[in-house]
Formats: sequence, structure tokens, C-alpha cells
Amino acid sequence: MAFTGSYRNNGGSNAGPKVPLRADRSLSVNSTVKSNAVSAAVGQRVKSSSPSPSLSPSTGRRSGGGSPRNGKDDCGGVPGRVRVAVRLRPRNAEEEVADADFADCVELQPELKRLKLRKNNWDSETYQFDEVLTEIHTQKRVYEVVAKPVVESVLEGYNGTVMAYGQTGTGKTFTLGQLGEEDTAERGIMVRAMEDILADVSPEHDSITVSYLQLYMETVQDLLDPANDNIPIVEDPKLGDVALPGATVVEIRDQQSFLELLQTGEAHRFAANTKLNTESSRSHAILMVNVRRAVRGKPDKESYNLNENGNGAHLLKGLRAPIVRRSKLVLVDLAGSERIDKSGSEGHQLEEAKSINLSLSALGKCINALAQNSSHVPIRDSKLTRLLRDSFGGSARTSLVVTIGPSPRHRGETASTIMFGQRAMKVENVMKLKEEFDYKSLCRRLEVQVETLIAENERQAKALLDSEERRQIEVIEAEHRAIEAENKLASAVESMAAEKLRYQKEYMEMLRKLEDQQQQQQQQWMENESRKEDCGREGSVNAAGEELAQVKWLLQKEIQMRERAEEELKTLKQQSIPNWSSEMVENGEILKIGKRLEDEVKQRSKLEDEIKSLKHQLLQLSMEADETRRVLDRGSSGRISTGSDTPINTLKTHQVRDSANGQKATIAKLFEQVGLQKILSLLESDDVDVRVHAVKVVANLAAEEANQEKIVEAGGLHSLLMLLRSSEDETIRRVAAGAIANLAMNETNQELIMAQGGIGLLSRTADEAEDPQTLRMVAGAIANLCGNDKLQIKLRDEGGIRALLGMVRCGHPDVLAQVARGIANFAKCESRACTQGMKAGRSLLIDDGTLPWIVQNANNEASPIRRHIELALCHLAQHEVNAKDLIAGGALLELVRISRDCSREDIRNLAQRTLVSSPIFQTELRRLHMAC
Ligand code: ADP
Ligand code: MG
Repeated sequence: MAFTGSYRNNGGSNAGPKVPLRADRSLSVNSTVKSNAVSAAVGQRVKSSSPSPSLSPSTGRRSGGGSPRNGKDDCGGVPGRVRVAVRLRPRNAEEEVADADFADCVELQPELKRLKLRKNNWDSETYQFDEVLTEIHTQKRVYEVVAKPVVESVLEGYNGTVMAYGQTGTGKTFTLGQLGEEDTAERGIMVRAMEDILADVSPEHDSITVSYLQLYMETVQDLLDPANDNIPIVEDPKLGDVALPGATVVEIRDQQSFLELLQTGEAHRFAANTKLNTESSRSHAILMVNVRRAVRGKPDKESYNLNENGNGAHLLKGLRAPIVRRSKLVLVDLAGSERIDKSGSEGHQLEEAKSINLSLSALGKCINALAQNSSHVPIRDSKLTRLLRDSFGGSARTSLVVTIGPSPRHRGETASTIMFGQRAMKVENVMKLKEEFDYKSLCRRLEVQVETLIAENERQAKALLDSEERRQIEVIEAEHRAIEAENKLASAVESMAAEKLRYQKEYMEMLRKLEDQQQQQQQQWMENESRKEDCGREGSVNAAGEELAQVKWLLQKEIQMRERAEEELKTLKQQSIPNWSSEMVENGEILKIGKRLEDEVKQRSKLEDEIKSLKHQLLQLSMEADETRRVLDRGSSGRISTGSDTPINTLKTHQVRDSANGQKATIAKLFEQVGLQKILSLLESDDVDVRVHAVKVVANLAAEEANQEKIVEAGGLHSLLMLLRSSEDETIRRVAAGAIANLAMNETNQELIMAQGGIGLLSRTADEAEDPQTLRMVAGAIANLCGNDKLQIKLRDEGGIRALLGMVRCGHPDVLAQVARGIANFAKCESRACTQGMKAGRSLLIDDGTLPWIVQNANNEASPIRRHIELALCHLAQHEVNAKDLIAGGALLELVRISRDCSREDIRNLAQRTLVSSPIFQTELRRLHMAC
């Protein structure tokens, strides 16, 4: 037998014209099947078949009888007749021996795709098939012509069936299930189909799952899980799909795992058959390969059922479900088709044979019905036909290989098999593409999207929350800052208020001081007026100035004379020396010169003595002149002039100031160069002269307000107080007291003086000193201390007032003026304390017995004394508590006099007001018949 033809659905000599395959599209997705257009040519046994009807998969009824050549049928499917190939097994060893003398019962004409079945030696029947495969055809060839077109259709989305039908031992299993482990050329259709499928699909987008089942005596068993031995068949009447719920489904990713799966299935099939005491030939083996493929490329817009204006397209864009094609390849290795009687079955085996034949005969009946275009197709008669409902008269592409053996002994079985094949060739299927939206995948994608959106939403919410938190923090911070600013403002306002209060206080104090100053200046003016009458002091100052000038002139003259004499002596020495030996000795000139030289030396020594004494005098006079100036500067107030002198003062003092300025400058220089510490250390020198000079320098410095603080800081006050206590020298004590008086002008220093026992030292000095100038300085210092409100009690308790009063013994007007000033200062402070309620009871001045002296000097001719006493009296009279003592002491008359005669209007008015406002004074005046 020569093999020339080839079996191709779309090719071959008897293939019809190529028709573009158009699939039925349940989802309206346009696509074009790229290859394998089904040939509508129908191979027939002699007579060609008429157009075959196809069975609707859902109803089992014929859906139309259109010619396959027309392409698409009424339902939109592609007509595709069941393709049938016949395969002849080669003679086996037994047949070689047994049938050696017989010719084969079949004669194959593969090139004509014909098979001749010999009835006897002279008669034979010829049958046309889609393919005739002889014993020489390889497994590869069988696969390519029988199964490959089906596999390709499956990969395109159509269901497909490849089935082997034939008598036991004719090679069904060899054709379908041979694993070809030892010889790969022997691999059967199952292995090769999976190879092609795996090669075509994308592991990323597509999936292949496999179930392997056995149908035995109308029971579906799971060959991948033997325990699962009664699997129900569930049909979807709408889609015509058959499902086997509970069957093991294994995903296949590679060929090796598939081979292992087949081996497992085969082992289980063997085990099951052993258990049931049967053979594999009596069961149907069904391998189901489910292919799920993603359709790539952009789907048609129309398919998304958009509304008219296309609104929602953008919304739907993200909701498009991917399209997938689901298809199923069913490979069926049928049980042997031999007749029961032939297999010699009995009993159970008979029942078995019936069951086996039940399925096979049901299949045959269905095929007959389909082939004859019968109105009834008994699909539901057996499980096999229910499982294969899509393969015959359904939407699958089906290829049937009928296997026959060569032995003439099986002629009847062979003929029956051939007839089965012939009928099957008349069955027309309508292939349908099954595309669907992959809602699961869409769902998964949407879930991912929802997750992403939720995460994004959460992120944004968190960001919003964070920014809100930040904003709140900022608001809180801003509030804090505002509160802080408010607090600062409040404290600033508070401190400003305090400052304002302080300034007001200072202002009041300044006013008070100015008032005092004005009073003092007026008093001073009065005093100076009175001094005009007595020019003695001023004269002495002038005289001192003249004397100083005279001494300076004399000194200058003497210096000049000395220089001349020295010059002369020098010249004479130079002229005379060379001639001494001869001429001078002779003339007695040497003696004369000697005498003259002697005179000159004496003269020089005398001049030097004179210079020394003049220098001493000069210093003494300078100091005195300076002191005089300061006394004048201070007037009776005890305050040093600081540039606010009245014009009268300036006039009075400018004469002595000229001479004092030189020394002042010298002292300032000394202060700068030597340093205060060194000067102060000289106060403790053993040398009296040094101490005298040092204390004078310090006193001069203390006269300047600018230096006072530095002196006190450097311990100068303490040193001065020590000098006052320990020094025997009158000058030192006088000058020290003067310096202390100057320092006592400052309120802080007043407190320091008191704290360092100054009042006691001053009191002691006041008691001991005789020199009016010393007493004046001491009185001045105490008077200054009397002006401090805070020190009143301490000053009085430590004997300050009694010391003041004691100094009046000297009678010197300067001393008395300072005493009066001290009393006035004290009275003023006391009066202020009384007014402020800080003091009660009689004046301490009265307590300490000053009243008689006050009354006695109230009308002193020396105006500085008088003015101070007048003021003191006015202060004392202002408080009723003193009134009786004042009356008793005779002060009332003095007050009346002041209120009438005082040249100072302010004091006069004060006295008047005091008298009028005091009921005690008024009573007394009335008693005295003195109107006021
Ligand atoms: P069946 O499944 O139809 O009962 P088998 O496939 O089991 O038959 O085949 C029976 C025997 O014949 C096996 O030993 C097998 O190897 C052998 N055989 C079948 N077909 C061929 C073939 N075409 N070429 C070589 N040996 C074959
Ligand atoms: Mg078999």
C-alpha cells in the first residue's frame, strides 16, 4: 500500500475551498480565525453524503441543515463535520504465525483514502475515509493528521475531541496514550497534543488544567485521585457545557509534570481495574484538557455597550474586563468495541459487557441519529454520550480514529468498526468560539485598584490630618506667642508705670532740692552781703594771693641769681687756674679768690635753704588758698559747687580759684599717674608730712563729685574715718573731716559713714577739737548727715545732735552756721516724717535740748545762722506736739517775729501759716493779746 495523501482539514485533494472561519461570538468580539478553515468537503462511502444537520448543544436538536460550504450556520457557528481516520495496526507476532497463510481482511489505499474490506476472496467493499493510516504510518504522522488540527482549534478557542474507537488490541491506547518514554517516536496523541499546547500558550496570561477520568460501568472515577470514584456529571443546558464537580484539576506548566500525571493516571487505572477484576479495555479513559487564554489586543469599543454619546467611556475604560477564551480538548480512549458474545463474558462480566456496550451502543445510536438527521438523539442514554455531547453534533471540532487489526479472524469486528467510522463521518458539528469577559480577573484587578485607592485615600487622609495637626500646632504656637507678647507688654507697662513713679518721685525730690538750694543761695547771698561789710576774710585771701605771687617772684629771682653765680664761678675757674702758680701767688690773689669762693658757697647754701623754706611756704599757701576757695564755694551749705554757682559766687571766688586751679591740675595729674590706691595707702604712712599731703590730696579729690564714688569704693572713706580716730595731727583731722564732709553730701555715702561708726568719730572729734576750721568741717559733715531721712534716729541716738550743739561753744560764725544748718536739716526731715506719720511725739531736737540755743540764735545777726534757725523753728512749729515746748521755750515770739519781719517771703509765709493753723499757738497768742 502506498501512502500518498495527506489529512488536513484545510487541505488535501478532496478538501473544499478554503473558507475564512468565522466564529460564533457570544460576546460580539470580532476576531478572525487565522487558519484552519474547515473544509466542507465530505468524504463518503461511495455515495457522497448530503448536507448533515448539526445538533444544538443545548437542545440536542438539529439547528439547521445548511451546507458546510456556506460557512456560518444559522447560529453563527462554523460547520465542521466529524473527521474520521482509520488506522490499521501492524501484524503482531501471533498474527504473523496464525494468519500466515491468510491475506489481511482489509486492503488500504491510503493515497485514495480508501479501505477495501474483503468479504471473501472475490468480493470486497470499499470505504472512503478522511484519512487512511496504514501500519507503516508513524505516531507523528497519525498525530499530525488526526489530532493536530483539533489541537490548533482548541488553542484558538474551540472545543475539540479526539477519540479512538476500535476492538480491544487494535491500538487505541497505543495511538492516544502511548507515553513513548523509551522511544520518543512512539509518543501518542496525548503527549504530542500537550507539547503543542504548552508551546503555544503564555504561562503569564494563559492556563492549562487537566483532569483524567475513567468511565467504568456508568461510573466516573478520578484517575488522579482513586478515592474519588463516583463523580457526578453536571450539564449546563444553556451553554451545553459539561462539568465534573469534584474531579481533580491539575494545572500543567510543563511537559514533565504532564507525563507524570499520565503515569499516575495509568497506574491508578491499572490498580482500579485489578481491584475490579477487569481490564483496561473495558473502561473508557477520558483526558480533559482545559485551556484558558487571554485575548490580546485592544477589544472593540462597541463591545462595551457604551451609551449613545459615549459618556462613561472614561469610566468604563478602567472597568473593562479582560477577554478570555475557554476551550476544552477531550481525548477519549474508548473501551474495546468487540461484541459481548465474542469476548465470552458471563455473569458479572456479562453485566460489565452490557454496561460497556451501553455507553458504546448509546454513542453509536446518537451517531446514527445525527447521521440520519433524526429528530431524536439519545444523548442522555449513557454517561459517555452525556460527557461527549459537545463532541458529536455539538460545538466541538472532533476527530475520530478508528483502529482495526489485520487479522481475518476479527473480520466482523473490523467491519463493525469501519461502519461506525463511516456513520460518524456524517455527523456535522457547529464550532463555536467561546469568549467571555474574565470577570474574576476584572474583579481581582478592581480589588487591587480599590486597595490602591483605599491606600491612597488613607495616605491623603493622613496627610490632611498631619497638615491639620501641623496647622493646629501652629495655631497653638501662635497663641503662645501672643500670650507671651501680651505678658511682655503687661510687664513692660508695669515697669513703665514703676519707672514713671520713680521719675515722678525723683522729680519731686529734685524740686525739693531745688527749693532747698534756692533757699541756701538766698541765704548765701545774704551772708555775702554781710561779708561785704567785713572784707577781712576776702582781704586775707587777696593778701594770700599777693603773698604767693611775691614769693614766686622772689624764688624766681633767687634761682636766677644762683645760676648766674655758678656760671661766674665756672668762668673764673677756667680763667684763673693756669696762672695760679706764678702770678696769683705772688700778688696774694689766691686768697682773695678763695675767700670769694667761700662766700659764694655760703651764699649758695643760704639760697638753697631759702628755696626750701619758700617751697614749703608755697605748698602751705596753696593748700590754704585751695581750702579758702572751697569754703567760699560751699558757702554755708556744706555743698561743693558743681558748676551751678550763682554769678555772685563766681565773682567772689574767681580770685582764689586761679591760684587753686594750678594745684587742682597737679592733683588730677597725680591721681592719674600715681593711682588712687597708692594715694590712699599714703594715708597710713609713718611720715606725718606724707600723711598730711596725702590727706590733702584725697580731700581735694573728694571735693570733686566725680571722684567720690571711686574714693569710697577704694576704701578711702574708711581710711579717712581711721585718720579722724587715730590722728593726733590737727591738720590731718581737719582735712580728713573736710573730706568726710564732702563725701557726706551723697546719700549712699551718708549711710556708709553711719554704718562705719562715722557719727561717733565725728562727735568725738567735735568734742576734742579746738580749731574752728576743724569744728566747721565736723559740723558740716554732721549737718549733711542730718539731711538724711533714714538716719534720723541713729544719728540722734549716737549723739549727733548733742555733738552739733556742743560745737557752738567755739562761737565761730562758720561753725554756728553749720550747726544751724544741721539743726534745720534735722527739723525738716523730722517734720516730713511726722507729716508722713512715720514719727510721733516731741521733736528729738527738743529732747536733746537744742531749743534754748535755737531761740537764742533765732535772730542771729549772721544771716546764714539766722535763716537756718528760722527754717528750723518753722519746721518744729508745724507739729502741735512741739507747740507747748516752743511756747515754754519762748519760740512763739520768735515765730511771730519771723512771720512779720523775715526778709524771705517764703519763710515769712510759712511762719504765718503755722501760727494760724495751730490752735495751741492761737490760744497762747490770744492769751498774750497778740494778733497774728
Ligand atoms: P487497545 O488499546 O486497542 O486494546 P493496544 O493499544 O493496547 O490496543 O495495542 C495492543 C498491542 O498492539 C500493544 O502491544 C501495542 O503495542 C500494539 N500496537 C498497537 N498498534 C500498534 C502500531 N500501530 N504499531 C505497533 N504496535 C502496535
Ligand atoms: Mg487500550
